[in-house]
Amino acid sequence: MSMDNTNSRRKFLKTTVKGTAALSIGFGGMSELLSSCNTTKNIAVSSSMATPFVQQPLPYKFDSLENVIDKLTMEIHYSRHAATYTKNLIEAAAAEGVDTNKPVEDVLKKVSKYSIKMRNNSGGHYNHEMFWKSMRPKTNENKPSGKLIENIDKTFSSFGEFKNKFGDIAKNRFGSGWAWLYMEAGSLKLGSTPNQDNPLMDVSEIKGFPILGLDVWEHAYYLKYQNKRADYIENWWNVVNWPYIQQRYESVI
Ligand code: MN
Repeated sequence: MSMDNTNSRRKFLKTTVKGTAALSIGFGGMSELLSSCNTTKNIAVSSSMATPFVQQPLPYKFDSLENVIDKLTMEIHYSRHAATYTKNLIEAAAAEGVDTNKPVEDVLKKVSKYSIKMRNNSGGHYNHEMFWKSMRPKTNENKPSGKLIENIDKTFSSFGEFKNKFGDIAKNRFGSGWAWLYMEAGSLKLGSTPNQDNPLMDVSEIKGFPILGLDVWEHAYYLKYQNKRADYIENWWNVVNWPYIQQRYESVI
């Protein structure tokens, strides 16, 4: 990440500390608020993609993705589902002696050594933290650029073909889970995982670094789309935050 990006991220984080307070107090109380602020500061200094053990503020309002994801779905998804994964992860970490000052990625890499509670909630926390940042209000720039689009074109023949293949994988994930674009040994790959697993986990069938992930649990879309998962997937492309996805890609090449 360039210095300019680091500075603008720091500014962004400074301006969102109030948001952190409002959102954290609801489910975590003051100690979690303080640890959230500290972690936020650390992230601003570091330019890595490391994920702390606290839920970060949503980078937009609950109604900012309306017409693609409705306000109530966003509110319930962020404040209840995702917040619960974070809370349960912190509980599991305390019970199993995990150092929560280290990134969540350290747990994911060796998640087979921990309980099923740790597996479900470390994945649930990590996947959602990534998911919120992977979206933004609708813009006209709804495709990637730079090195990422070059590699997508090379690997999948075109951006349209890439979206079709990713969409098919997301539609075909039986039950709850995630669809992924990920990097494995220098190559872009597509795949999916059940439940809250992800490609960073040592127990996952697909392994690598997640570049883009789509939540296909019914809680992510059911209020607006009911059984029409395909419509949710198709609409979702309008709110993908490609600059962030490019940063993820560029952090591993
Ligand atoms: Mn979810």
